[in-house]
Amino acid sequence: MSYRLLPGGPVRTAVAAGLVIALATAAPHPAHAFTGGNHEDITRAALPWEPATLTAMADARDGAVNANDHGGYFLMGPLHCDNADYLAPSHARDYPRSRDEATTELLACIRTSVARFRSAVRAADGLVDARGRVRADQSALSTPCTWDEAPERAKCEVLEQLGRGWHQIQDFYAHSNWTDRPDPGPLGVTNPPGLARTGVAPFLDIRRYSTMSDADWTRDARERIPPELTTGCYSDLDSTGVKAADCTGRVAHNRDLNKDTDASRRSRTGDNFGRAVSGATAETTRQWDDFKAALLTAYPDHRRGEQMVCALVHDDPQASCP
Ligand SMILES: [Zn+2]
Repeated sequence: MSYRLLPGGPVRTAVAAGLVIALATAAPHPAHAFTGGNHEDITRAALPWEPATLTAMADARDGAVNANDHGGYFLMGPLHCDNADYLAPSHARDYPRSRDEATTELLACIRTSVARFRSAVRAADGLVDARGRVRADQSALSTPCTWDEAPERAKCEVLEQLGRGWHQIQDFYAHSNWTDRPDPGPLGVTNPPGLARTGVAPFLDIRRYSTMSDADWTRDARERIPPELTTGCYSDLDSTGVKAADCTGRVAHNRDLNKDTDASRRSRTGDNFGRAVSGATAETTRQWDDFKAALLTAYPDHRRGEQMVCALVHDDPQASCP
């Protein structure tokens, strides 16, 4: 459900050096269509949107939800919930990372989504005029949106902010042990415990966190992160700008934990792939429902929030949202 096809690893490592300044240049990444396809399938299943708008969000290559897998964004660990790996002493003696370090990386991932949510609420203001009429020029998708962080039609801006905020949340389900079951064998670095959860993660309450201070929501999230939660070590940049030289002794994304495709080892353990897809789909629906609710709350006058939602889900808002 994301990029991290095994053959992609060395490619990413090779281009990692120039990453921070490469953020804006967005050279197309070697195709990982299949895994981008999982983001697409999840997004399509989760959102009751009209076809052209849904494609703009979901498309395996060009959709907003896949924008974080292109260019320099691809190499930023928090944009994929990577490197929040941890095992308790009962599963691995002297694990090289602490629970607190792992939690810090997960919070960095959540933080990127909180920031995108706030930006999306702000950008939606441009969809509708002061009297609640949809602005046709700001809500048309007659030409494709570009996901380059530059100002453009309000609808494109909202889709970009939402897509860049949802990508890592979908990745969380593919990259963590939240929905997993482990192999029946002994637990350890190559067979981390699985939490077997079926509900959405309570520490991904992005709408609520978007209304709180950083100190307050991180305190809330910390309390809700289970001690046995882990994601995988990956050779990208962590939240402190450090790139792991390798993942020796750590739960490794590629080898041990990812469910980016249905062919990974962890995916083939029981129904782990299906469980991750189900979790990510339910989560995406939750995130969209929460965003709608945020617009209704933020823009109550002249039914502006309702009109914003209408403009977002319809392909021809001028006709559909009188
Ligand atoms: Zn990703």
